[in-house]
Amino acid sequence: PPVIEFTRIGRTYPGPPPVTALKGVNLVVRRGEYVSVVGPSGSGKSTFLNLIGMLDRPTTGTYRFDGIETSGLREKQRTALRGRRIGFVFQAFHLLPHRNAAENVMLSQLYVGVNRKERRRHATAMLDKVGLSHRATALTSQMSGGERQRVAIARALVNEPSLLLCDEPTGNLDSKTAHEVMSLIESLHASGLTVLLVTHDESLAARALRTVMIRDGSLTESIGETR
Ligand code: ADP
Ligand code: ADP
Repeated sequence: PPVIEFTRIGRTYPGPPPVTALKGVNLVVRRGEYVSVVGPSGSGKSTFLNLIGMLDRPTTGTYRFDGIETSGLREKQRTALRGRRIGFVFQAFHLLPHRNAAENVMLSQLYVGVNRKERRRHATAMLDKVGLSHRATALTSQMSGGERQRVAIARALVNEPSLLLCDEPTGNLDSKTAHEVMSLIESLHASGLTVLLVTHDESLAARALRTVMIRDGSLTESIGETR
C-alpha cells in the first residue's frame, strides 16, 4: 500500500470564527518517493504536517497511513503508529541538550520495546550512518547546528520508519550546512527511504522529484517541472 493516502482531507478549526485551513486534499505518496510540500506562510503547511504525522485529526476525508485507516484508531494506537513508523525532523532539532548524541538517539526507541544493549547498538549504527560515530558521547548542547540536525536525523531513523517527515529541516542552518543536511536526506532517499519535506523555500523544494504546492488550503501538483 502507499505510505500516505489522503482522500478529500479537510481541516476546519472551529473558532469562532471557523477557519478552513485545508479543503479537499487528495495525495498519494508511495514507498520510496521523495516529495516536497511548499507554500507561503498561512497556506496550511503546519495543518497538513500535523495531519500527516497524526498529531491532529481531519474534520473530513480519510487518511490511510501504510494501508491503515487512521480515523478508527484510538489516541494510544496513533501514538504507537507514529512512534514506530514516522521519523520527525524539525527546524529546531528538539534534542535533549544535556544528553549525549547516543542517548538522544536511544530515547526514541524506548517505546518500541528493545533492551538497552540493543538500543545502544542501533544508536551507534544510526550515528555511523549520518557520519557522527566520532561524536556519540558529545553533549548535543556542545554540537554545531549541522551536527545537531544529523543527530536528529539519526534519532528519526532508528526505528526504521516508513516515512521521514521533515519540517523546514534546514531553517536554522547556514547555507553550507543546509546543503550538507539536504545531501544527507537525499542520500537516505537514494537508499530507499520515503521522504516528505515541508518547506517555504522553493529552491529547496525544487530538489525533490515531486513537488506539491499548498495555497489557501488547496493542493496542486507540479511533477517533473524542475528535472
Ligand atoms: P502555515 O503552516 O502554512 O503557516 P497553518 O496550517 O499554520 O499554515 O495555518 C493555516 C490557516 O489556519 C491559517 O489561517 C491559520 O491562522 C489557521 N490556523 C492554524 N491553526 C489554527 C488553530 N489551531 N486554530 C485556528 N486557526 C488556525
Ligand atoms: P509554522 O511556523 O510552522 O508555520 P505556525 O506559526 O503557523 O507554524 O503555527 C504554529 C502552531 O500554532 C501550530 O500548531 C498551529 O496549528 C498553531 N496556529 C497557527 N495559527 C493559529 C491560529 N490562528 N490560532 C490558533 N493556533 C494557531
